[in-house]
Amino acid sequence: QAHAEPGNSYVIYDARMGNTQRDKLHMETRMLKALEHGDFEVYYQGQRDLRDGGIKGFEALIRWHDNGKMVSPAQFIPLAEESGLIVRLGSWVLHQACRQAKAWADAGLGRPVVAVNISPRQFNHPDFMTTVRAALQTTGVDPAQIELEITEGSVMDDAEASISQLHALRALGLALAIDDFGTGYASLSYLRRFPLNRLKVDRSFIMQLGNSEGDDTIVRTVIELAHSLGLSVTAEGVETVAQEATLRSWDCDVVQGFLHSRPSPAAVATDLLVTERKGMPAAA
Ligand code: C2E
Ligand code: MG
Ligand code: MG
Ligand code: MG
Repeated sequence: QAHAEPGNSYVIYDARMGNTQRDKLHMETRMLKALEHGDFEVYYQGQRDLRDGGIKGFEALIRWHDNGKMVSPAQFIPLAEESGLIVRLGSWVLHQACRQAKAWADAGLGRPVVAVNISPRQFNHPDFMTTVRAALQTTGVDPAQIELEITEGSVMDDAEASISQLHALRALGLALAIDDFGTGYASLSYLRRFPLNRLKVDRSFIMQLGNSEGDDTIVRTVIELAHSLGLSVTAEGVETVAQEATLRSWDCDVVQGFLHSRPSPAAVATDLLVTERKGMPAAA
């Protein structure tokens, strides 16, 4: 299902698109060409720390410029995942994100953390650790500036193997977050066993904040649960001042959403950091 974000003009692909084998092959071929031609771009969305009010970092979100139109990742990530192209695409995003994080540090803009989405197929690929090490080494980024966002689905297939890989990633100095928390089939016992740093509460729970007792309870409970396990919490999709105030009163650590920052090109994210450091009220 395509969704249009105000301020970004996305192509809404026909709902039938990508359904037949032929359509899929066609999309895959175009994605591969786009990767070779440099038609993908990494956008960055600011994440604000509710404790000190500053920009904690950014989430890296891929965009596809397809002949002047922008295609939403919701349209092509699932297909890239299905075809396996996500492994190359994801590795490219990771390199870009590491390079950008390093560039910000080198420019004297602090040490913003860049969060990178890792799909199940990437996480479970035998070369994943090698890819991550290579991205850190070739860019020279401080690993403390990189956070990997994985989903519940990535780690549940083979929990034991996942646990050891998560430990290996932590040993490299990276932070680990569970993305879209609450939407997968989470077993609470793994939260204790997995060496995580953060839970990202899915936007679907934030949308009705203040209007749905059920969602309010879930969000509050997730924040308490996370804190009792020593994890930080990011709320996704925060669009209003009221949502932010509620989240702050519940001790949520970080907010991400259109209220403070839309996903934007690296140059715009840089401006946000520069403005912030001048002590001016920042908005993007
Ligand atoms: P996600 O990782 O949960 O990313 C958050 C999504 O919520 C982004 O959608 C972001 O633009 C959107 N969002 C953030 N704040 C708000 C808000 O206040 N309101 C609304 N309505 N939306 C908000 P986007 O960029 O379209 O990405 C969609 C999904 O595609 C991501 O969800 C992620 O699962 C996937 N994705 C994006 N980039 C990558 C990538 O480089 N690699 C992989 N594997 N997946 C990616
Ligand atoms: Mg994410
Ligand atoms: Mg998310
Ligand atoms: Mg989400």
